Amino acid sequence: MATRIPLIAGNWKLNLDHNEAIHLVQKLAWSLKDAKHDFAAAEVVVLPSFTAIRSVQTLVDADKLEIGYGAQDVSAHASGAYTGEVSAAQLAKLGVSYVAVGHSERREYHAESDAVVAAKAVAAFGAGIVPIVCVGEGLDVRKAGEQVPYTLAQLEGSLAGLTPEQVAKVVIAYEPVWAIGTGEVATPEDAQEVAAAIRARLAELYSAEIADAVRVLYGGSVKSSNVASILDKQDVDGALVGGASLDPEEFAKIARFQ
Ligand code: PEP
Repeated sequence: MATRIPLIAGNWKLNLDHNEAIHLVQKLAWSLKDAKHDFAAAEVVVLPSFTAIRSVQTLVDADKLEIGYGAQDVSAHASGAYTGEVSAAQLAKLGVSYVAVGHSERREYHAESDAVVAAKAVAAFGAGIVPIVCVGEGLDVRKAGEQVPYTLAQLEGSLAGLTPEQVAKVVIAYEPVWAIGTGEVATPEDAQEVAAAIRARLAELYSAEIADAVRVLYGGSVKSSNVASILDKQDVDGALVGGASLDPEEFAKIARFQ
């Protein structure tokens, strides 16, 4: 069985300028150091706004921090007349290791379809960046008890065009939309149900080895008070954390599952 190192990723959303980003990463690094955080036991990553990535890179390099960093989105295009977009190659130049694609806020406010998300994931891998592919159902779907088929359809559509070797490296974030930023956290059993279904579908579509290698994160109102019970579940390999990642001490606690 593959060893899946848990990943704790902080999605800062539209928050923090580059100075604030530096302060947060410094405080996070101190908190993790104080707690003797073992980065081999849980990878810690922050996803700042594009404008703060260069500053985070400079700090991480200067202080030789083990904290990783990524972006919250990427263009599906390599270059050209796409005003306002940022390419995967431009992010790779900044040392970015991960990029979130298909976050529910992008899907909702920017009408991103599964096909667009898949194209972004392909573009990310093309530049050597690992996409964190976000999937998850809204409240109406959950109330109808359709969360598994809905999320699996999104998964399949969002991975279209990736090679099996790429899928083996992808990170999936299961984020029920009704739990994002609402304080309404899914139960550990809810998270496990969909995470296990995602892994089973990956085994059907690709192979058991690939399914075993893929990290499936849970996201939706994760805090230090609920992280341990969620990550205790067999198929949950980490967390995508929004609001709570803006508090460095709280985020450091989450990274230690406590
Ligand atoms: C997110 O933005 O991906 C998220 C899960 O947010 P929150 O933790 O605030 O619910």
